[in-house]
Amino acid sequence: MTTSHAVAGPAAFGLRGAPSAARARDPRPGIAGLPPDALGAWFAERGLPAYRARQVLDATWRGSETTFDAITTLSADVKAALAGAFRFDTIADTEVRPADGGLTEKALHTVSDGLLIESVLMHYPARAASRERHTLCISSQAGCAVGCPFCATGELGMERDLETAEIVDQVRHAARHLAHDGRRLTNVVFMGMGEPLLNLDRVLEAIEALNDKARFGLGARHITLSTSGVVPGIRRLTALGPQFTLAVSLHAARNALRDVLVPLNRRWPVEEVVAAARDHAAATGRRVTYELTMIAGINDTDTDADALAALLRGDHAHVNLIPMNPVAHTPWTGSSPERIDAFAARIRAAGIATTIRRNRGTEIGAACGQLAAEHAGEAPPIVVRRRRERLVAQSAAALRGERSAEPVPAGVGE
Ligand code: SAH
Ligand code: SF4
Repeated sequence: MTTSHAVAGPAAFGLRGAPSAARARDPRPGIAGLPPDALGAWFAERGLPAYRARQVLDATWRGSETTFDAITTLSADVKAALAGAFRFDTIADTEVRPADGGLTEKALHTVSDGLLIESVLMHYPARAASRERHTLCISSQAGCAVGCPFCATGELGMERDLETAEIVDQVRHAARHLAHDGRRLTNVVFMGMGEPLLNLDRVLEAIEALNDKARFGLGARHITLSTSGVVPGIRRLTALGPQFTLAVSLHAARNALRDVLVPLNRRWPVEEVVAAARDHAAATGRRVTYELTMIAGINDTDTDADALAALLRGDHAHVNLIPMNPVAHTPWTGSSPERIDAFAARIRAAGIATTIRRNRGTEIGAACGQLAAEHAGEAPPIVVRRRRERLVAQSAAALRGERSAEPVPAGVGE
């Protein structure tokens, strides 16, 4: 695969010269974000029969049409009225880049106001024990307020929440692309740009649409939500009962280090995050996955493994270790395979189920804003140098056990 050493845009430093978001947002809602009863009501208000709404729903979710105009079962008047009220597709443009010998396809989508968002389609060929899978990693926000320093989206900063239709339209695009070759999307993971639990109302609407048999019809077990640890959001999901899979991006078990790697830890410390995830597993009977992006010499030491083992001991948990994909502006590199093996052995010895994701970890990282960051342009070298120096100083202090004096990122927490 091509390792993309992305360069973050000046947005992270308040210098962005508006390379994106140059246009006003289209006020018409995307059709795929509408609940079916709202579409039914729209047809009823116009004195049109209910089966017309179903035809539109079918074309939206199952058809190969890409415009209202292409729905041959509707009259020209109805098509024009629909196009005046709604957008058939909220994604204005898509650039696809294959990677990993064609096993991964990264898509950079432009939404109506010109912002760039990413989705990544990963193909897993059939194996003796498993069928062929096609997993789409989607974005829930343009940018992200959390600001994890190893993540290209974090470097971009927050742009805006995505609309429900903008979330599900990433899925419709991939599904149409796969259907072209007679293939089907089997899994959706919210591991692209953004923190899904900070846009939870829309993310839940999107999941409902994906899950609904009358719309996309993907089983909840095939949907994974990944969070950096928004505790009230996790508790809200728990109250909904057993649904999709929950993944928590832990990265460090020690608060001082996690304050630097996942800045919302300053609002919800790691014990609170794990307590919420533990309650979620107990209430839903579903195992929680903890993700750790492994950074050489920072969070991959024996001390970190022991802290993680102590934190999760006795839990119904699963740990997934992923080497960090290099991102500009960090002074860091991903951990070596040998170090990850040693880390895994130490936590397995404490009875914690652990897997190592080597091949596609970098592809997931690639989903996290790297293409959008490339498009945003390069920050001045002095800005990059200062940021690296600051991270070296912050992580050195964290490794000495000193907690961060930095504030909670704006836009995170109540
Ligand atoms: N905001 C959510 C979901 C999107 S990020 C979250 O943080 O969980 C999805 C995953 O990609 C996270 O686990 C994140 O840690 C990981 N990731 C981000 N940048 C990465 C990088 N450079 N290398 C490897 N994984 C990365
Ligand atoms: Fe946001 Fe997730 Fe990236 Fe952190 S890793 S900045 S939470 S998208």
